[in-house]
Parts: sequence; C-alpha cells; structure tokens
Amino acid sequence: MEMFTAEIVSIGNELLIGKTVNTNATWLGRKLTLLGYKVRRITVVPDEIEEISSAIREALARDAKVIITTGGLGPTFDDKTSEALAYALNMKWIVNEEALKLVREKYEKMGLELTKHRIKLAKMPEKAKPIPNPAGSAPGILVEKGKSLIIALPGVPREMKEMFEKYVESLLRDRGPKLAFYEDTIIIKGIPESSLAPFIDQVMKKVIKVYIKSHPKGSEGYKPVIELHITSSGKSLEEARKYVEEAKEKIINLVKDKAEILEG
Ligand code: ATP
Ligand code: MG
Repeated sequence: MEMFTAEIVSIGNELLIGKTVNTNATWLGRKLTLLGYKVRRITVVPDEIEEISSAIREALARDAKVIITTGGLGPTFDDKTSEALAYALNMKWIVNEEALKLVREKYEKMGLELTKHRIKLAKMPEKAKPIPNPAGSAPGILVEKGKSLIIALPGVPREMKEMFEKYVESLLRDRGPKLAFYEDTIIIKGIPESSLAPFIDQVMKKVIKVYIKSHPKGSEGYKPVIELHITSSGKSLEEARKYVEEAKEKIINLVKDKAEILEG
C-alpha cells in the first residue's frame, strides 16, 4: 500500500533557544493529518546551510512524500532556506523569473527599487516554482525530487497559513490518499470573535479530527456576526461528517446562551 508520509522541517534559531514556540509545526501537523498524510517527523534546525540541507536530505532519504519547511525565506543574511534547499537537491541556485516578477510587483506597489537583498527573495533551486505570498514579500518554493514534493513556506505564521490554505492545501489533497472531505458552516451572531476563540480552541482539542476557521463578517462591534467554517476528513463521508457534526454540536452548546445561531 502506498504510504503518504510527510515531514516538517522548522528552521530558525529562535525556535531552538526558547524564544518562539513552534506553532507552525503544530498547525501544519494537523493540516497534513486531516489531508490523510502520516506525519513521521518534525525536525527543528538553526539558520545554517549545513543543518538545513542535511535535515532535508534526511527526509528525502526516508522517502517522505511531502516535506514542508518553514522559516528562513526573508531578505536578511540569516535567511538561508532557499540556498540550503538548492544545495540539498544538487540544483543550481538561480533567480527564478516568475518569482522575480512577483517580488518586483510587490516592491513596485510600495514604490521601492529592486535591490540585491530583494532580488535574493526570487532566488530558488533551478527546477522550483514560486508560491505567491499575498501577506508578505518572500514567495514560497515548490520543488520536486524523485517522489518527494518539497514546499518551503515563510516563518511568519500569518503568511505561512494563508499560503498553505490558498496554494498548497488543494495540491496536497490531489496528491494525497483522497480521503472523504466534509464541511459545514455555522453563523453566530452577538459575540465577538475574541470571545469565540477559546471555544474554538476547546472544541478543536476535543474533536481532534476537525479544523475550525472563523471568518468575522464586519468589525468586532455591537452584534458581531461570525461565520465558522468546520472541516474534516475521514475514510468515508460518514466518518468525516460525524466529526463535523460533533464539533458543531459542541460549539452550539457552548454559545447558545450567549449568542444567536443563524444557521446550522
Ligand atoms: P521574514 O521575511 O519575516 O524574515 P522568514 O521566512 O525569513 O520571514 P523567519 O525569519 O524565520 O521567517 O521568521 C519570521 C517570524 O516568524 C519570526 O518572528 C519568528 O519568530 C516567526 N516564526 C518563525 N518560525 C516559526 C514557527 N515555526 N512557529 C511560529 N513562529 C515562527
Ligand atoms: Mg527572517
């Protein structure tokens, strides 16, 4: 049977010295699991070419279907992920024209010139494709080696998540074990998103197979309206549906005395 294995490589000194909690790896671990991948390893390495490239080579040697890295894509001297990736894959590290276009457009909007440090954001392993970054300036990197797909995303959690959900998730779903996918929406009126947040955490902890994303409709004011999008996957549609319904019921029970539930 084909195994859909995944590995995560978290890059950054701040993760090793106890300055930053590795929330990216936790978030990606859940996302990959919901897509049906078996996450086999999470490796944390410092901002050093040797360490980053050996972590990638080791994951390749274990035949991971998907390897996702986060961090180290920025313009400064300590951002080395792209170069390390080229080194690990024995590919040239060159300016990617498609990436350069994305980077140029970003900086033109800000009225800024392309400098050496900004051009660096467009340097990628020879056979890579850029992933647009709507929330930041460093594009992500997508490159294949043998049967492995390697995806490099930025360290900033907001950028990483948006890029994953917009450009990576559907790709991994297509290449993955094709689990059944189920989704539902609830609309909650009358409590702000910040008050809903602990309930979402609580339910996601209890129903480990669901992912809940809140979309505020308008600002946090009097009578805010929040749309909750609940998704899950399973071996069958019934299984996926069961998780979603379970989460939905729990959320409704937690908020029903405090808010109006408009749909669901
Ligand atoms: P930038 O262009 O901002 O430099 P980058 O891709 O180079 O982006 P990093 O420099 O590695 O990313 O990290 C940027 C920010 O994201 C830092 O504040 C860092 O603490 C945070 N960060 C990095 N990795 C993680 C992680 N694994 N989990 C949570 N936060 C992280
Ligand atoms: Mg950086």
